[in-house]
Amino acid sequence: MLDLRPNCEWCDRDLPPDSPHAMICTYECTYCADCVRDVLHGVCATCGGNLVPRPIRPRVRHRDGVGTGLANTPASTERVRSRWTAEEVAALAAKLRDVPPGER
Ligand SMILES: [Zn+2]
Ligand SMILES: [Zn+2]
Repeated sequence: MLDLRPNCEWCDRDLPPDSPHAMICTYECTYCADCVRDVLHGVCATCGGNLVPRPIRPRVRHRDGVGTGLANTPASTERVRSRWTAEEVAALAAKLRDVPPGER
């Protein structure tokens, strides 16, 4: 199940589960859209993969027999911060920003 992390790993702003600004990589590294555009340049600072808008989990279950919805599968409350320096982030972004995700 997708880990809905509560904050941007880079700037630490809150990203609640219904935020339209949350973006994730394939490992669920989570950033705000501003940091993806201005700092990461579309490159995850940890894995080097691309970042896409995080799907918004429905608040409630809409079908019997499934455990879906935020009430049943709540968002994480564990804040995650990037372990990389600004220089390390910039170096990886410079290396990969013009490489298509499937070729990284
Ligand atoms: Zn951010
Ligand atoms: Zn990543």
